[in-house]
Amino acid sequence: MEWFTENWTPNIKFSVRIKEHLHSETTPFQQLEVYDSFELGRFFTLDGIMMANEKDEFIYHEMIVHTPMSINQNIKHVLVIGGGDGGSVRELTKYQTIESIDMVEIDERVVRVCQEYFTITTTGLNDPRVSLKFEDGLAYVKNTQKVYDLIIVDSTDPIGPGEGLFSMEFYTNCKRVLAEDGILINQHESPYFEKESTEMKRAHKKIKSLFPIAEVYQAFIPTYPSGHWLFGFASKKYHPIKDFKKAHITSLGLETKYYNGDVHQGSFALPNYVRNALKEV
Ligand code: SAM
Repeated sequence: MEWFTENWTPNIKFSVRIKEHLHSETTPFQQLEVYDSFELGRFFTLDGIMMANEKDEFIYHEMIVHTPMSINQNIKHVLVIGGGDGGSVRELTKYQTIESIDMVEIDERVVRVCQEYFTITTTGLNDPRVSLKFEDGLAYVKNTQKVYDLIIVDSTDPIGPGEGLFSMEFYTNCKRVLAEDGILINQHESPYFEKESTEMKRAHKKIKSLFPIAEVYQAFIPTYPSGHWLFGFASKKYHPIKDFKKAHITSLGLETKYYNGDVHQGSFALPNYVRNALKEV
């Protein structure tokens, strides 16, 4: 195969020239492919949608982790839902203050295949603070008695196994297992194309109805549809800008390629078309 092509809309395609098709597998949950490419390095897809590539994965993983970590300095127990490539866990393990990281991924094959092909994202999975649980995140948050300071929903799109992770039932249970000063972060789709924008508004509406603080922030991720990507920030206590202490995050001296204190503040400054879309919900 010479090109990998993803349909961003019925009228727009995104294509990447392939060096080698490294792996192909039908897991019990989805179709998993791994490729090596000329410009993006290795990348993997689930059901034909690019999940992570070696060139820009740092943007998504840094933004989904460091944004909440810089708000609440008492985060000790973290739950990651999905996140099979390990990138979110890698960023979390940069904090010595974190005591436990539970990663609940529905598809063990994603983790195992990523461990084989993506050392760049999976290094943190061997950290002794990390527990891997292979089960549905929806069922996990319903049944667990544990309390978390931070929940990161690093999910696929709201189709297939990821659908339940955008439901009211899921968000309600996340709220239940969050500490009083806990933070919930979700990958929130793109505001640009209609399909993702509709999903984003639906998710935001549900989260806003449950949490007193529900904000949205953005990052530029070249290989996700439109490149303009959003994350949801929800908390019972902390506001992502009013409670942001730039000096604290700077003093940690984290090694990051995208995230910094200025990016943090700027990422909550949303363009009018996004603000207006959020006002509609
Ligand atoms: N950041 C990527 C994106 O937006 O394209 C997604 C990353 S990918 C690692 C998301 C992971 O969520 C996949 O490995 C998938 O197996 C997992 N997942 C999907 N539905 C899930 C569920 N119900 N419970 C737990 N994990 C789930």
